[in-house]
Amino acid sequence: MEKLMRAAVYDGTNLNLTDKPLRAVAADEVLLKIAVCGVCGTDIKIVAGQSYVTPPVVLGHEYCGYVIETGTQVTSLEPGDFVAIDPNISCGQCQYCRRGQVNLCENLQALGVDIDGGFAEYCIAPAKQCFRLPENTDPVQAALLEPLSCAIYGFQKAAIKPGDSVLIFGGGLIGILMLKLARLSPARQIIVVEPDAQRRKICLKLGADLAFSADEKSESEIFKITQGGAEVVIECAGVLPAVEQALRLVKNGGRVVIFGVSPSEQKLPVAPYEIYRRDISITGSFLNPFTFKTAVDLFSAGRIDFDDIEINSFRLSGIMDAFENQRQHKSLKTVIDLR
Ligand SMILES: [Zn+2]
Ligand SMILES: [Zn+2]
Repeated sequence: MEKLMRAAVYDGTNLNLTDKPLRAVAADEVLLKIAVCGVCGTDIKIVAGQSYVTPPVVLGHEYCGYVIETGTQVTSLEPGDFVAIDPNISCGQCQYCRRGQVNLCENLQALGVDIDGGFAEYCIAPAKQCFRLPENTDPVQAALLEPLSCAIYGFQKAAIKPGDSVLIFGGGLIGILMLKLARLSPARQIIVVEPDAQRRKICLKLGADLAFSADEKSESEIFKITQGGAEVVIECAGVLPAVEQALRLVKNGGRVVIFGVSPSEQKLPVAPYEIYRRDISITGSFLNPFTFKTAVDLFSAGRIDFDDIEINSFRLSGIMDAFENQRQHKSLKTVIDLR
């Protein structure tokens, strides 16, 4: 008899809770019993029709679970293993993959976007996408490893040097992960720009040296404190005013990492002369090429923890409420607990 599982399927218009049949596991795959799956801003955008997706598909790309069955060729995992999943599957054969730029893969497929993901009782995933975690890992925290892996890639591109001043735009989950990473760096000073006073308070508690709102007065103060701008600016807000301010507050010779996801149709007036004359580097950061293991290692070693991150948990049956919670930013993170 065919096995059915409860799953949240996006059909191209709506997200529906349905019973979905589970197919057989292929030779290089594993069957996972999902433990926890995070709700990402991308999930909200998908359901709003504002982000790329291949429907119908089970959403959810930030998850962890228990291996309950392995394909015949899988040697790296066994039933009972607790794993976090890197959702981004590259082909290994296109021009980008052959150059090691797997995040730019021409045939990229993501679990929870193109292939059934984590908002379900079970998921079938390629074994190579699974990263084993220590048995005592908190599954709610393990669901944050995917966003951490993306933050690590952006952080690597920021290339912070000893003594740099680091300016982070956005005090949401990603901004806080960047803050935690910056705390491990030799930066001389970490400043966060965040409009929400409550979030600024959290950032200060988590080790930001200073936290400012995004107004003009704050801008001139930051300019003064950093003596003409920060060497490194990491933009994690994804709104135009923040990107504009980021470009104004980077020091001559400095670097801006565009990590936040701005609406794709929005444009920015930039004077090429300024980029030239001020010798500014502007770089993007997309997904998590080769950083998932780094995320797992940093977390497992206790160098990065999520203890102080406010996480709201919902059951799968409450996924609509969970999406609303995330959409309204009622907590730093929202997860679906399937245990
Ligand atoms: Zn995500
Ligand atoms: Zn490829």
